[in-house]
Amino acid sequence: MEIPPLVEQGSVLSAEESRRYSRHLTLPDISTIGQERLKKSKVLCVGAGGLGSPILMYLAAAGVGTLGVVDFDVVDETNLQRQILHGQSDIGKSKAVSARETILEINSFINVVVHDVELSNINALEILGQYDLIIDGTDNFATRYLINDAAVLLGKPYVWGSIYRFDGQASVFWADHGPCYRCLHPQPALDVASCAEAGVLGVLCATIGAIQATEAIKIITGIGTALIGNLMMYNALDMSFEKIEIKKDPQCVLCSASPRQHSLLDDYEAFCASPTDDEISVGELKERMEQGGGFLLVDVREPYEFELVRIPGSILMPLAGFFDASAFAYLPIDKEIILYCKVGIRSATALKILKSRGHVRVRHVDGGVAAWVENFEPELRMY
Ligand SMILES: [Zn+2]
Repeated sequence: MEIPPLVEQGSVLSAEESRRYSRHLTLPDISTIGQERLKKSKVLCVGAGGLGSPILMYLAAAGVGTLGVVDFDVVDETNLQRQILHGQSDIGKSKAVSARETILEINSFINVVVHDVELSNINALEILGQYDLIIDGTDNFATRYLINDAAVLLGKPYVWGSIYRFDGQASVFWADHGPCYRCLHPQPALDVASCAEAGVLGVLCATIGAIQATEAIKIITGIGTALIGNLMMYNALDMSFEKIEIKKDPQCVLCSASPRQHSLLDDYEAFCASPTDDEISVGELKERMEQGGGFLLVDVREPYEFELVRIPGSILMPLAGFFDASAFAYLPIDKEIILYCKVGIRSATALKILKSRGHVRVRHVDGGVAAWVENFEPELRMY
């Protein structure tokens, strides 16, 4: 998708800068105007590791005026196989600080802002809000959803990349022009191992990180066609690149016409955590209620059944509303939801639908209201 330049022209290049960037200035598509846009641009890279290394080093060399680095980790010996921002003498040093030193060694014209913190729902909007464009160099799902959500809420482009063993992927998510990360993955993949567990070909970082840096430069200067609405997939063993189209999800909780999520989630770790079990016993449910709840108890039966007998504290949302999507507006994405029906058949269906729509913290009552009545309120009339 062709879009206008993200960044206005900045201040005029000095004679020294013009010399340094001469190979860009002779490219007609970039020229002095594009280089001045790069000079004015502010890019935030989350993570100064495998992907962050080529991203930050090339953006520094390219003359991106302000580079923000978020990382609170320290350099470890096992990082050196792929994280080329850091050298042997940096072991034990803060990655953000080590990144800053390498960037300034490449290009001292760059303003480097170090955020030596863990990105969280408390600081994400404030940090991301200071930049024109966000690049993801992280390797965990919780941070990825956090960056996506903050970028959508702020209306900023989010250049995403991911690596796994010999495979890499990249895309640009920008809700104003195309899908967001949640459109592609409404629900976190729960069984994917990290680089530490699965291993990764070090040089893969360079391939994917370079694609991300390329997209950032294109978006800032408004040249070419950005990867918006496309997913680039790379396999190092086959040396194959495949680009597939991805569409905006009309029911995306975040970026659709009628979003259900209007702010950051309270707990991204919980959102991405593996669910323990889909079922909850009536005994555990009663215990949870006595501990003060903290969940939404939803009866998916019909109104006449709800009138006859119900579990105390529940709200009614008949199953049909899960099929036609009308129920979703009432079910917050980040709140734990416990579903029940008469014996547990309809609630299992509702659970499947909710999970496919990105709800992770959802369970249903084993045995339904019938089990509840039998165990705790035998005086009530069951039907
Ligand atoms: Zn979306």
